[in-house]
Amino acid sequence: MSTVIYPSPIYGPVHSRRLGLSLGVNLMPADGKICTFDCLYCECGFNKDRRTHSPHPTRQQVAEALEKQLIKMHDDQQHPDVLTFAGNGEPTSHPEFSGIIDDTIQLRDKWCPKAKISVLSNATFSGHDDIRQALLKVDNNILKLDTVNMDYIRKVDRPTQPSYNVKDIIENMRWFKGHVIIQTMFMKGDGTDNTGEEYVAPWLEAVKYIQPQEVMVYTIDRETPDQKLRKASHEELDAIRDRVIALGIPCTASY
Ligand code: SF4
Repeated sequence: MSTVIYPSPIYGPVHSRRLGLSLGVNLMPADGKICTFDCLYCECGFNKDRRTHSPHPTRQQVAEALEKQLIKMHDDQQHPDVLTFAGNGEPTSHPEFSGIIDDTIQLRDKWCPKAKISVLSNATFSGHDDIRQALLKVDNNILKLDTVNMDYIRKVDRPTQPSYNVKDIIENMRWFKGHVIIQTMFMKGDGTDNTGEEYVAPWLEAVKYIQPQEVMVYTIDRETPDQKLRKASHEELDAIRDRVIALGIPCTASY
């Protein structure tokens, strides 16, 4: 399998064209993946191939590892632009997520006050009050909305909770009153394609309703566990981006 699994709880820093120098925080174990989605395109692989029984790193372990790395970077005159919660699964599913965000804010203020804190989440817990309050505190609350079509979501994002309902997720996103960035994967292949008008038009309606501070559209960039998937084209992504911008909402496209 050519998908990747990340060290835990800290990995990097890695240079990213868009984010700059990013230090990764992975709240999942280092030897597997734990996610409430099982996306066909997940760079960590399918859930069934990445099962782990290892515990999550504790709040204290995360804080200690993060501070150690921030001190090292500080001593090396390396200044992270962003501390990014991502890695082997859904960060907000960690039982101590809120406390970890509080610790991260404190450590950021102490060692790298200019760095932003970003959370990449699939939004499945965005209706939980403690998660909402934590996400309100971070600089970049980046929530996934690949489409509003439930059949496509069941086929591509594959939520593990039968109760998942995209209408609720859209309401949760709107609840943030603009303190939210929507991230959408456009792609095709293996019987999937969310670049057509029947997908893009209702998705745009949802974006307009949510009124996020920004939208990020992107496509497959790395190896995917489903090897029949294909990239959306530059032209398709650019056209979608321009339609978001026409709504008065900033939007970037990454290819
Ligand atoms: S939400 Fe993210 S981590 Fe979870 S399966 Fe999808 S791509 Fe992978």
